[in-house]
Amino acid sequence: MAFDVKPLPYDFDALEPSIDEETMKLHHGKHYAGYTSKFNDAIEGTEWADKSAEEIMAHLDALPSDIKTAVRNNGGGYVNHSLFWEIMSPNGGGAPSGKLAEAIDAKWGSFDSFKSEFQAKATGQFGSGWGWLVVDGGELALVSTPNQDTPLSDGKTPILGLDVWEHAYYKKYGPGRADYASAWWDVVNWDEVARRYDAARNG
Ligand code: MN
Repeated sequence: MAFDVKPLPYDFDALEPSIDEETMKLHHGKHYAGYTSKFNDAIEGTEWADKSAEEIMAHLDALPSDIKTAVRNNGGGYVNHSLFWEIMSPNGGGAPSGKLAEAIDAKWGSFDSFKSEFQAKATGQFGSGWGWLVVDGGELALVSTPNQDTPLSDGKTPILGLDVWEHAYYKKYGPGRADYASAWWDVVNWDEVARRYDAARNG
C-alpha cells in the first residue's frame, strides 16, 4: 500500500494572508510530495509496506537499519504535513470550545497563555522543525521536534502542529518566524484539533 499525497482540503490561496499561495503550492506540491515519494520508496517491498504511517512512525526502533533514517525523515515529513494541512482552514482562527478548551484552561490558565507558550516553544526550535500540542498519557503537553521528527516516535499523539522550517514561511516573512507564527493562529482549525483530541483520549 503506497501512501498518497493528500490533496489540500482548500485552495492554495485560501489561507491568505496568513500563508501565501505560492508558499502553499511549493510546500504541498514539492516538499510534501517529495517526502511522500521517498517514504514510499523506503518501505516498498518491506514487511512494513502494509502498515499505517502512524504505526510505522511509532515503531522507528524496530525498522531495519538500512531504511530507518529515510523513514524517520520522509515518513515524518509525510505524517507531519498530512496533519498540518488538516489542522488549518480558511474558516479557522478564534478559540477552541468544549473539552479541549477546558483542558487548555486547566493546564495553562487561559487560552492566551497557552498560545504564548506554544508559540515560544515552536519558534524557539533551533533550525528546522516543528512545534506541537500533543496528548501524552491523556494529558496535554507542548513539545518541539527537530527536522521531520514526529512526537509519534516518542509515544505522544500530536493534535496541533506548526511547521517552522524556513520553506513554510520565508517567501512571505523572510526571517520573521514569529510574525508567521502570530498570523498562523488566524487559520487554525480548532474543530479538527478538538476531533483529534477526542480521538487521542478515546483511542
Ligand atoms: Mn514543511
